[in-house]
Amino acid sequence: MRFNSYVHLFGYTGKLLRIDLSKEKVSVEEINHELLRKFMGGVGYGAKLLYDELPAGVDPLGPENKIVFTTGPLTGTGAPGSGFFEVCFKSPLTGVWGESRSGGEWGKALRKAEYDFLVIEGKAKEPSCLVIHDNKVKIMPAEKLAGKTTSQKDKIVKEDLKDEDFEVVTIGPGGENLVRFANVMLGGRAAGRCGAGAVMGSKNLLAIAVKGSGDIPIANPDGFSAVCKEGYQKALAQTPTEEGMSFTETGTPGYMMTADPKGDWPTKNSRSNSWGKGKEFYDRFKSSNFVKPNPCYRGCVLRCGRIVKVESGKWQTPQHEGAEYETISAFTAFVMNEDVDAAVHAGYLCNEYGIDTISAGATIAFAMDCYENGFISKEEADGLDLTWGNAETMVELVKKIANRDGIGHILSEGVRRASQKIGKGSDKLAIHVKGLETAAHDARSGKLQAITYGTGNRGMCHTHAAEGIVYDHVKMDLGLIPYGIPDPHTIDRFAEENKGKIAKMLQDFEILPDILGICRFYTYFNALDVGDLAKMISSLTGWDIDGGELLAVGERVYNLQRMFNVREGIRKSDDMLPERCLKLPEFGKYASVKECEIKDQVRMLEEYYEARGWDKETGVPLERET
Ligand code: SF4
Repeated sequence: MRFNSYVHLFGYTGKLLRIDLSKEKVSVEEINHELLRKFMGGVGYGAKLLYDELPAGVDPLGPENKIVFTTGPLTGTGAPGSGFFEVCFKSPLTGVWGESRSGGEWGKALRKAEYDFLVIEGKAKEPSCLVIHDNKVKIMPAEKLAGKTTSQKDKIVKEDLKDEDFEVVTIGPGGENLVRFANVMLGGRAAGRCGAGAVMGSKNLLAIAVKGSGDIPIANPDGFSAVCKEGYQKALAQTPTEEGMSFTETGTPGYMMTADPKGDWPTKNSRSNSWGKGKEFYDRFKSSNFVKPNPCYRGCVLRCGRIVKVESGKWQTPQHEGAEYETISAFTAFVMNEDVDAAVHAGYLCNEYGIDTISAGATIAFAMDCYENGFISKEEADGLDLTWGNAETMVELVKKIANRDGIGHILSEGVRRASQKIGKGSDKLAIHVKGLETAAHDARSGKLQAITYGTGNRGMCHTHAAEGIVYDHVKMDLGLIPYGIPDPHTIDRFAEENKGKIAKMLQDFEILPDILGICRFYTYFNALDVGDLAKMISSLTGWDIDGGELLAVGERVYNLQRMFNVREGIRKSDDMLPERCLKLPEFGKYASVKECEIKDQVRMLEEYYEARGWDKETGVPLERET
């Protein structure tokens, strides 16, 4: 076992690797031990680093932006869900805090190479690939990778290194073309949403290959192993209360069966929150497209991931890892497409081009809405028929967006910028918060979700809306009742009052997986509560940490990300949901359910700000703690 140079620093390698691509300089820094206890890792340490090192106003696609690959103390340790790494940066899509995450073996490999964090700055003078093999770090010219898809790049890098054991993240043509919602890809897994792939592309960095041979030092190996074993047992004993909520059984696409009847399924560019076709689509997906479960890292017992295919026909698609709930929903309900094969195919193309499936689907839905409203003509759409549900057009637009071709050039900017270019009042059809397009969840399914959707630091995202969703209508308390949260069964999901404190506590808890480097699915159904996480961190690091201290870390990180955003000009108005998402759905199960409307969003926000200690008028944190 290899130990870091900090005496008694367990659970970390204690090292940060910094690459300046402009100067072709590689340096290794030792990490301040006290900062680790305050910010721990993942999006926490990433927020601290970017808040300190990025001045306000930097161009997200300029060499002065930095992209930080972070791991958490639990990444790669064998703890439940411990395959996760996070990417932190200023987002080219939103202009504010950007974060993306992926499960897999890459984060573990980085830690085995003896680095907790990787900071990349500057811009390479030519297309490049970064290779990290323990303490040997090289910036390699990689012209041959240019223009290749993500799977082609992965293959070429491994062939060139003559070693299949390297873990490789890549960007696709979307990232090279600076599509503002381009992803960093790890095989078929995406670190998506905020444009991390475009930031890598702007730096001429097309791939990062990592391999290491070290171990993470554990303070109390027997204790850690026992608490992890208990965590896995609890995860396996999860008892989902809703159809489609067992991700082991149905994968995430099963959630279509819950989302649709609960009004959590944005349909036709959010004109409705239900369509009545969720179960039918899932059944078709299960019988025609699903091949087998595929865990993102070795050892996951929940195994939500899946290999899928389209066997034959117009949308024939090879076996690949893909077709998340979000992806299938974005390419069906968002755009009114009823061809599930086409949705699977569109998701596959997005992965190969390295662009975000959710933002791609949402942007295509926006374009179809513009077409219906006469804001985009057939001629302006390169002759395409943008009628709702046109699967051929949907697939064509994915390609055009990735290549910035024709109308794809405008759409590759995301809905906010696209609506500014199109004008004619099309901003009313641009469904986003802070510039991030809606995910496949709908604020009209519950008022806690309305708050978590609006106040999410990266915008209208699917991960940080989830804490509201799981409490509102799935009725999970996430083990927070001992910390003061009311039993969700006693709370009316449609009531607008007294939700601020609950939203704050849910957010402070559900940011912890992203800080600690684990999968949030392990925290659902009370499988791993904050007390379990505290026990894991204590036995791993030797620190004496309880649930209260961990929740305080969550709050600190949430506030620091907010301060990052405030410095970029974010205020109360940026936490407001699009007007369409506040109103009675135009059709579907909830079209006459008045309670699902959001009547007083301002009051809900002010109650939330009060719980957070933020100024009620502006949404600015009153005390800055770092
Ligand atoms: S539940 Fe899914 S995302 Fe989470 S660790 Fe397992 S395979 Fe990965």
